[in-house]
Amino acid sequence: MPFYRYQCEVCGDVFKVLVQNGDSTPIKCPECKSEKTKRLLPRIGVIYKGNGYYSTDYAKKGNKSKATTSSKIEE
Ligand SMILES: [Zn+2]
Repeated sequence: MPFYRYQCEVCGDVFKVLVQNGDSTPIKCPECKSEKTKRLLPRIGVIYKGNGYYSTDYAKKGNKSKATTSSKIEE
């Protein structure tokens, strides 16, 4: 059974809902109980964080690749 991501248009919360076939009942936001929610398109490789923000390449920064040792060979 498919999970769909929904985003609340009131508070911006993103949540997953298990949608059954032919089920057309309005999806309520678990945070503010609003029914103004929209289904998000599934995207592979995108991680949604709580409030509707998502990050694709956040975690890449930071470690390694600091070239503090530069030993040049002079000819
Ligand atoms: Zn909400």
